[in-house]
Amino acid sequence: MLLFNDNMPIMSDHQFSLYDLKVETIEGDKPFVCAHTAGHSFEVRGENLHFKTDEPFSLYALAALLPLLPTKQRPLNQFDWMATDHIIACPDPHCGAQFKISRIGKQIFNRDDTTIVPLPDQNDWIEE
Ligand SMILES: [Zn+2]
Repeated sequence: MLLFNDNMPIMSDHQFSLYDLKVETIEGDKPFVCAHTAGHSFEVRGENLHFKTDEPFSLYALAALLPLLPTKQRPLNQFDWMATDHIIACPDPHCGAQFKISRIGKQIFNRDDTTIVPLPDQNDWIEE
């Protein structure tokens, strides 16, 4: 059961949050070379990508964006560049398309629903 405070879920033990993302094609300072359309977008919710029917998205742009998305889903340190740089260029250096990553929601996940790896007693991967 999830508890809410001001319509935001409150986490309990063994839970973590991930932001839902929207990735939208926007115009840069040069014309598009690839078959992008400004306004076309997809969403990231949990581990899933959600594409809209009749809004194709470039395979090459997706390949450039994919490594960034799991980090963009997580709470970030205020000094981390990932917390401030939300516009990503098309990987074709001649193409003016850019892709804006926005947070559009937040979900709470139970650790036990996402992994079978036991929780270690000490973990150097977490930021204090
Ligand atoms: Zn492009």
